[in-house]
Amino acid sequence: MANLRFEAVKIAIERKSAFNSKSVTKGERAKVYFAQDVFTREQMKEFISGDILSQLFDDVDNGRTIHRDIAESVAIGIRRWAIGRGATHYTHWFQPLTEGTAEKHDAFFTLKDGALIEEFSGDSLYQQEPDASSFPSGGIRNTFEARGYSAWDPSSPVFLIGDTLCIPTVFVAYTGEALDYKTPLIRSTVALSHAACEVCQYFDKTIKQVHTNLGWEQEYFLVDEALFYARPDLMLTGRTLMGHMSAKNQQLEDHYFGAIPERVLDFMRDLEYEALKVGIPVRTRHNEVAPNQFEMAPIYEDVNLANDHNLLVMSIMERVAQRHHFRVLLHEKPFEGVNGSGKHCNWSLETNTGVNLLAPGKNPYQNLQFITFLLNVLMAVQRHNGLLKASIISATNAHRLGANEAPPAIISVFLGKQISEVLDKLEQADADKGIIINAKKEMKLGVGNIPEILLDNTDRNRTSPFAFTGNRFEFRAVGSSANCGAAMLALNAAVAEQLMTFKNDVDQLIADGLPKERALFNIIKEYIVACKPIRFDGNGYSDEWKQEAARRGLDCETSAPLVIDRYLLPQSIQMFGKTNVLNESELRSRCEVKWETYTKKVQIESRVLGDLVINHVLPAAKRYQTMLLQNVLAVKQVFSEEEVRSLNKQDYSIIRQIEMHVTAILAGVDDMTTARHQANRQPDERSKAIAYHDHVLPAMEDIRTHADALEMIVDDEMWALPKYRELLFIH
Ligand code: ADP
Ligand code: MG
Repeated sequence: MANLRFEAVKIAIERKSAFNSKSVTKGERAKVYFAQDVFTREQMKEFISGDILSQLFDDVDNGRTIHRDIAESVAIGIRRWAIGRGATHYTHWFQPLTEGTAEKHDAFFTLKDGALIEEFSGDSLYQQEPDASSFPSGGIRNTFEARGYSAWDPSSPVFLIGDTLCIPTVFVAYTGEALDYKTPLIRSTVALSHAACEVCQYFDKTIKQVHTNLGWEQEYFLVDEALFYARPDLMLTGRTLMGHMSAKNQQLEDHYFGAIPERVLDFMRDLEYEALKVGIPVRTRHNEVAPNQFEMAPIYEDVNLANDHNLLVMSIMERVAQRHHFRVLLHEKPFEGVNGSGKHCNWSLETNTGVNLLAPGKNPYQNLQFITFLLNVLMAVQRHNGLLKASIISATNAHRLGANEAPPAIISVFLGKQISEVLDKLEQADADKGIIINAKKEMKLGVGNIPEILLDNTDRNRTSPFAFTGNRFEFRAVGSSANCGAAMLALNAAVAEQLMTFKNDVDQLIADGLPKERALFNIIKEYIVACKPIRFDGNGYSDEWKQEAARRGLDCETSAPLVIDRYLLPQSIQMFGKTNVLNESELRSRCEVKWETYTKKVQIESRVLGDLVINHVLPAAKRYQTMLLQNVLAVKQVFSEEEVRSLNKQDYSIIRQIEMHVTAILAGVDDMTTARHQANRQPDERSKAIAYHDHVLPAMEDIRTHADALEMIVDDEMWALPKYRELLFIH
């Protein structure tokens, strides 16, 4: 019988990069093709008349709704541009709660009196009603009245993928409730801009807007297509549900930042070319810590656009990978015992005057502003640490957290030595002696080193879920397959709410008669003390930290279905309401979707594992056992009774071991199936998810232990599933 594994290994090893990536870019410089498939402002000038355009830009820049008449003119311009570039279809491109993106293509024509005419109306640009009844809505929209609308987001430019014009849109129910990630993400940026501007007025009255920036770092694995197809678990669930650890994996750290293998480099060049063409400013590529793990990162952008770009890049990656006979694994933990993949979200706030509010400034005033924003982020993360964990938790990311250099399932903030020292000094500073206000209204804090906060905050504490890295925060707990909008909108809203509180606190003191600087200083000192529990620079893996975190009142829950509850804490509902980011019904529906998705993912994994062990592992084990038994019999025929005992000793032992593992697997599969049936009978999505977490997952782990043990026992030639060493080292 042919062994699929050996065939796959042979194909993968012999695979040469048939693809000359250098010819893709034809030696052109990125400058030439960057954003060539985007309807940029530059392009717009060519296709849309001046007065319409200035109205459009003005509306977009000030966050106003675009008038339908404007949309009509813009649509005509878009169509001319798109058709000129070979487009035949268009689609509203949106971000349903399933993660990933959705699209439904329509051709650029319609029939008029039996004749075909090219058309793309303002209405088609503005709004659509995709028959999207099967997208999860968590009960907001019943399927029998499947009215979900997608509506144009003019702040993210339209772009071309192949012959299809993609229009970034929000996706909402007919009641106006959000059914996607983009809607609340945009709402959160509005809330944050408003709240941050108000606080900025203490320091600089010229500030009118505050933008939220996001620079994501996307980690991923590549596996050769042939090997991928020989692993049903990778194909169907995106991760290996079993597989014994390879003798060598990442211990030597020789892969990290090493030379990128040629075939992979070809893939990366091709990927970057495709990404740059649609305006994604990808800049960084390197090997990651695990073998066959890589990372790409762009230059940061406005969070709404950056998130669109990340989602777009994920789909481009899958497409380009196939061209190179690779499969890209975006799962957070494709291989047990090996580093998982995250999506570090570098987050910062920038004023319309170009000042990064999270970077130390040039003068004491700017530094006070910096400290103010830094502390408000700390306060927000502390108050909503459970919620922030909920914003990143999923069935897949849960496997990554807390192991192999991934952040633990407790949210804390790493500040680094320098900033910690600054805060300590400020806390001790005596306001009466410390604050010196000179004629120019400049302020010193009596702590000489504040104006000289250095930028080289070289934090290499990779296990911190939320780290300050010199001029931004890096939310590292976000999972590689996630829509980072979920995390970003929670963070934005939490910080917006906190800034409102801060302003109230300061204004109260001013109303009580304190000078502004003194009021700011007092509240800052208060906050420094109040946010101590969230600050943690140590080892997030130690048991002491788990105990310490619990003492500090941080959220230590690790069960994903229970972590999702944090969306419905009174303080979360209040915060999302106050900032107008999500109302209670939207929050409840999101939780329903999250629980349901959790259940489905574990359910599929559990079924696949059952199939794998029953139809792949047990037959191989039995075949090997039979071979040993035949050997035992043969020995008996040839040798004397005393000799038989010693000659067969080892075979006996292996036969028994196999029997033990096989029996355990059969019992395990029974237990797992029963657990699944019981879970399916739970009355609601939350209880189902909890049952899957509490009973199905442990049963799966149990089965895996025995399957992995058998992998080490059974004759290598009989083992049909590609092994970790093959999946991780062949490229
Ligand atoms: P590292 O791996 O050291 O964190 P990378 O270069 O891989 O660094 O990624 C850094 C990411 O942070 C990039 O996406 C970059 O654009 C982004 N970034 C840099 N400065 C800012 C900032 N002020 N705000 C948001 N993102 C930023
Ligand atoms: Mg980073």
